[in-house]
Amino acid sequence: MNPDEISQANDGRPVVFRGATVLTMDPAIGEAGIVRDGDVLVQGDAVVAVGQRLDVPEGTLEVDASGGILMPGMIDTHRHMWQTALRGYGADWTLSQYFVFYYLTHGPMFRPQDIRAGNLLSALEAVDAGVTTTLDWSHGLQTVEHGEAALDALRTSPGRFVLAYGNLLGAPWEWTNSAEFRAYVDRFPRSDRLGLQLAFDVTADPAFPEKGAFEAARELGLRVTTHAGVWGATNDDSIKLMSDHGFMGPEVTYVHAASLSTDSYQRIAASGGTVSVSTESEQSAGQGYPPTWNLRKHGIGVSLSMDTSVWWSADLFSAMRATLSADRSREHLAAHAEQETVVTNALRAEEVVRWATVGGAQALGLDHLVGTLTPGKRADLVLIKNDASPALYPVLHPYGTVVYQAGRGDVHTVLVDGRVVKHEGRLVAGDLDAAKAAVGETVEFARSTMGEQAWDEGMHPELPVTERIPNPYTYTDFTGSADRHQPQQAPAERA
Ligand SMILES: [Zn+2]
Repeated sequence: MNPDEISQANDGRPVVFRGATVLTMDPAIGEAGIVRDGDVLVQGDAVVAVGQRLDVPEGTLEVDASGGILMPGMIDTHRHMWQTALRGYGADWTLSQYFVFYYLTHGPMFRPQDIRAGNLLSALEAVDAGVTTTLDWSHGLQTVEHGEAALDALRTSPGRFVLAYGNLLGAPWEWTNSAEFRAYVDRFPRSDRLGLQLAFDVTADPAFPEKGAFEAARELGLRVTTHAGVWGATNDDSIKLMSDHGFMGPEVTYVHAASLSTDSYQRIAASGGTVSVSTESEQSAGQGYPPTWNLRKHGIGVSLSMDTSVWWSADLFSAMRATLSADRSREHLAAHAEQETVVTNALRAEEVVRWATVGGAQALGLDHLVGTLTPGKRADLVLIKNDASPALYPVLHPYGTVVYQAGRGDVHTVLVDGRVVKHEGRLVAGDLDAAKAAVGETVEFARSTMGEQAWDEGMHPELPVTERIPNPYTYTDFTGSADRHQPQQAPAERA
């Protein structure tokens, strides 16, 4: 397709992908879900056929997908899109530094236009990486005007979104029951492309004030997403309170769930809830060890997420890779502690691709629409193909290629609702320049509001002292080791 043809495709002309390795994620199609040398025909907003050498209507546009992997669009079930405005700023933060920055110090400075800016850039970043559905865990919505700004960005961006409305500076039992919020919900343009949920956390206050927020969710017919099992923040007491008051169920997503007891996992499993695992976040920020090793033993549904671009990009290739490795790493450590060796891996690449697609659809209650390439479902799909990349040949184990070989740079074409949003490696929808300009303005605003010193110190937290282990050996004349791994200078000492 060329640019003219893309606009024709976006006017409803059918599109056929020819000759791909198709990972349908639907076990009833092809050989256990895989169609080799497969075609996928898209008409309107739907997948209409999957098979080999499909007959297609006259005038169908063809995409040569040979050598590539065609799979359902990936689904990110927990992402604080607004924080993309400060992309990478918190690269060296711990979770407590994140909390201090957003909850205790600088959260109130973010204006509605800053929320909008972060969402605009985050939305494009997601579809560019083949993430066609994102749950925006939008907890910077201090006012309904902030909520309108978040919505405006999602409504006008390419992609499928669920706005999980939250307000980290407010009490959920209060804002969920305010007249302004109820009016916002009433006018929210809920559709298959734009969903609404509630996002709030449950402290372990035995009085369970969050009850009012759960009741609001039920009354409004909204699903709930909650950070649960976050070391030092939310724990088993929160799960028990939810359980005792009857607010656990399949409509609840537990984010991280990394520091919970067996009892809590059993309660989640029994209620049909799912867990959104943000492996890179759990590894680096410290919510707890990425819990897939435990979740799969409890039979709990898993989806994947990237959390926030203040640390990590919206890239589920990274999530899949990190998650598979973290799960295996945990199994090896456990075995070694027993003086044993893992001789066969329990978690396979295929399962992790499932979590990134159909697992996400199930977590969001959207599995009737997306998550698999099944005729009749919406055409949200990703072609991974990069003939210039030595790393994408040969494709012997396609799930292994997706998880351990491919990256966002290999995303060739992306469709959302049958609409081409990326083709030949370039975004063809949205306005990246406008999104960048909006984010640039937010960065300038944040920097000038905070002041240079706070801005610099916020980005470069103080280093802890690392005790060096004494070494009795001097085999050779080498004396340089004391100079290795010297910490960088603290910000105050830098010139
Ligand atoms: Zn989060």
